[in-house]
Amino acid sequence: MTTSLALPATLPGQPHFAYRDGELFAENVRLADLARLHGTPLFVYSKAAMLAALAAYQRGFAGRHAQICYAMKANSSLGVLQVFARAGCGFDIVSGGELARVLATGGAASRVIFSGVGKTRAEMHQALDAGIACFNVESEGELEVLNEVALAAGKRARVSIRVNPNVDARTHPYISTGLKGNKFGIAHERALDAYRRAAALPGLQVAGIDCHIGSQITEATPYLDALERVLDLVEAIEAAGIPIEHLDLGGGLGIDYNGETPPPADALWAQLLARLDARGFGQRQLLIEPGRSLIGNAGVCVTQVLYLKPGETRNFCIIDAAMNDLPRPAMYQAFHQIVPLLRHGAHEPAPALWDVVGPVCESGDWIGRDRALATHPGDLLAVLSAGAYCMSMASNYNARGRAAEVLVDGSDATLIRRRESAEDQMRTETLLP
Ligand SMILES: *Cc1c(COP(=O)(O)O)cnc(C)c1O
Repeated sequence: MTTSLALPATLPGQPHFAYRDGELFAENVRLADLARLHGTPLFVYSKAAMLAALAAYQRGFAGRHAQICYAMKANSSLGVLQVFARAGCGFDIVSGGELARVLATGGAASRVIFSGVGKTRAEMHQALDAGIACFNVESEGELEVLNEVALAAGKRARVSIRVNPNVDARTHPYISTGLKGNKFGIAHERALDAYRRAAALPGLQVAGIDCHIGSQITEATPYLDALERVLDLVEAIEAAGIPIEHLDLGGGLGIDYNGETPPPADALWAQLLARLDARGFGQRQLLIEPGRSLIGNAGVCVTQVLYLKPGETRNFCIIDAAMNDLPRPAMYQAFHQIVPLLRHGAHEPAPALWDVVGPVCESGDWIGRDRALATHPGDLLAVLSAGAYCMSMASNYNARGRAAEVLVDGSDATLIRRRESAEDQMRTETLLP
């Protein structure tokens, strides 16, 4: 027997989601009410949680010349972008589609930086037209193409070269990006030559240097190692007569999904700034590109139990959210906590172990394995830490419409995305004559 009386009222890593009298709330809004109103699966975000995550970075950078560029691939829903834009964030984009989203929310192009290994000429053109702050260039070939596109447009593109510092972020191989053998960035050894080339191209203006070593990083050491390597390079590049205005240390700070203890953003930056100060770079313009750490623990996905299917070897709990809504378990064997919206206090029935799976026709469509839940068809569950890399990775696989999204602010709840209909899904297609 477990009793929820013994369980803490708040959820680990997600203090803005908490139980009141056995019912799970987002800030002052009862999640079950939102599920009744908007159906399930339903993503619910807490604005206070987003701003609290951002405030940790802002505290860390107090008194510095720093710009936080939210890495919007973590969650690019317009309402989410608006919250960050209004709080002073710029954006790190990786496609023309993301730029269009920033502009649609009224976000300033002058605070946009453009990362990614495969920018097309059309995307470069679009970004130059919009007047973005900087291109984070990831290959020597891209330098040449960007130079051509800029010259043809009669513009000069501000560039930063993404260097690969060859440090191990000690995270999942699919989200580690700073090691030799990754497709990202220009190898540390080649970086100086690449800067010489960039400085010689008339369509380019060298603005900065950047690195991004991976995601869900839970310790400071890889950041400190990468920083030393980047600063070594800056010294060499500047000794070659090429000034570097800004240092961009990327994103990647992890969150608590299941007991991980990443350093808080302000504590991490206290360490990094101490190193920057020690090496005489403390007054440089700094950019960072956090994604997951700003939104991951600001969201949950509310889902309903459809069927229980006990079996000889495994028990399956089939829910109405699936890998098309929550792709991280299927993609990276990632862990999300799954909790009931309603706790029964001292009368909690004994839990059983369930594999929580979605309706999609794939064995990879699981959300959690061996989860202790006392649950029944019709019950509502919350998949936690679902703010980042869930909705932005959602697909229409199995012709499932994408979920609705609600942003909670105190006692107010705003539907920021309605549920996608079958008609929405078919809008871009044409029947044969
Ligand atoms: C994905 C990405 C980020 C953000 O990573 P998080 O782990 O979400 O903080 C930042 N910069 C670049 C270049 C990225 O590709």
